[in-house]
Amino acid sequence: MILYIMSKNKNIAVENDATAKGVIAMLREIAIIGGGAAGMMAAIVAARNGANVVIYEKMNRVGKKILATGNGRCNLTNINLSHQNIGCLHSTNRDLVRNILKQFTVENTIDFFEILGIAHKVEAGGKVFPMSDQASSVLDVLRYEIDKLGISVLCDCEIQSVKKIKDQFLLKDQNGVEYRADRVIMVTGGMSSPSLGSNGSGYGLAKSLGHKVVKPFPALVQLKLESPFLKVIKGIKFDGEASILVDREALRKEEGEILFTEYGISGPPILQLSRSAVEALEYKKKPQLKIDMFPSHTHDELVALISLRLSYQYDRPLDFSFIGLINKRMIPIILKEAGIHHLDKLCSEVSNKEIRNIVKILKDWEFSITGSQTWANSQVTAGGIDVSSICPETLESKLVKGLFFAGEILDVDGDCGGYNLQWAWSSGYVVGNEATIK
Ligand SMILES: Cc1cc2nc3c(=O)[nH]c(=O)nc-3n(C[C@H](O)[C@H](O)[C@H](O)COP(=O)(O)OP(=O)(O)OC[C@H]3O[C@@H](n4cnc5c(N)ncnc54)[C@H](O)[C@@H]3O)c2cc1C
Repeated sequence: MILYIMSKNKNIAVENDATAKGVIAMLREIAIIGGGAAGMMAAIVAARNGANVVIYEKMNRVGKKILATGNGRCNLTNINLSHQNIGCLHSTNRDLVRNILKQFTVENTIDFFEILGIAHKVEAGGKVFPMSDQASSVLDVLRYEIDKLGISVLCDCEIQSVKKIKDQFLLKDQNGVEYRADRVIMVTGGMSSPSLGSNGSGYGLAKSLGHKVVKPFPALVQLKLESPFLKVIKGIKFDGEASILVDREALRKEEGEILFTEYGISGPPILQLSRSAVEALEYKKKPQLKIDMFPSHTHDELVALISLRLSYQYDRPLDFSFIGLINKRMIPIILKEAGIHHLDKLCSEVSNKEIRNIVKILKDWEFSITGSQTWANSQVTAGGIDVSSICPETLESKLVKGLFFAGEILDVDGDCGGYNLQWAWSSGYVVGNEATIK
């Protein structure tokens, strides 16, 4: 016998009474607080399972952050990520991250978006982008699916309190309007880029329900350096290598385009290293940044190259001899840092020791890191809801039955390269599923 069960937004056909009971159990109101990547994924999965889903979003539309991702191109995942290889995701519970990525893999993500209409391409480093090169296309297909599934979306609705009363949750927005739900999925993001919606409000909601928050700090963010030269060298870009040193130990090294700025330093390798630097500062350590402006040359090769140039230009001033090798604005600074104060001395007068000192600066220039740019500039939040109180298979709260967390609000964050969105898709998928079946 086919039964039709009226859900708020759709008719669900079921085959017999037993299944009908299952579906009735699934016809629960699921409140999703936050319409970002994780929230939209959770909503789609829960609605496909037959639940009544409402997304509560404080901004005037869902998915604003997605539009800003990948410089407007949306680096939606990374083919190098798998549950066996989670090195680019950071958390105090790595097993939890593995469990979740196993349940909704990178391949599942690519298929999910292909079915919605997003053809994909893989770029350097395994980064996956939509073929259209438009982040807006990713948001368009998600919103289309949300509409198609009849998911209710309440925008300009900031949830300011969540309480559990018996088996139900009571949510209240900024105007005092109350909403009821059987399950709550909290996906309010972290604190990074608050102009796109995520301002840390979810931490307060979670704390009011008994959860602890691991102190958040900005990651994937530009670094502030201590240096008297920044005003002169700001705007200079070069392909180089950067490493983070903490207690003289090199923690991590990255190559790519590096940019000096008025406050310090930026560029993809710096963003990638920033987590280790900011974490060290949080622990009151004194991290250093080491810059190698000639990563393709060893020290000896660079000494040989410079010696050769000086021998050709023996009757020219030393500072002039570096024109064509390094940015002109950099020359006096590099020479002074190398302890050479007569910048215009003749090349023939330069000693081997001085050449070695110059090479030391060009390859091992060290700066003290004094801080990072603000939340407004950071792309992701390290820290967040303490995962020790979260079930590592289902992402349900161990403290409050029926409450789930996913995405950046949790103490899980990733490197640059599609890892953060993959975490949002995988964890969103798991909670969307679990909230309908548990
Ligand atoms: C500029 C930029 C570029 C990025 N590029 C990439 C990239 O290319 N690839 C990648 O993998 N990652 C990228 N990231 C990181 C990635 O976008 C995030 O990690 C991911 O979007 C997090 O998803 P989320 O759903 O957990 O949180 P969010 O996307 O932050 O969504 C949270 C939502 O909750 C809403 N909200 C917050 N509080 C409340 C409340 N109390 N009531 C109702 N609604 C609320 C917010 O308005 C927001 O819409 C980038 C981030 C930034 C800022």
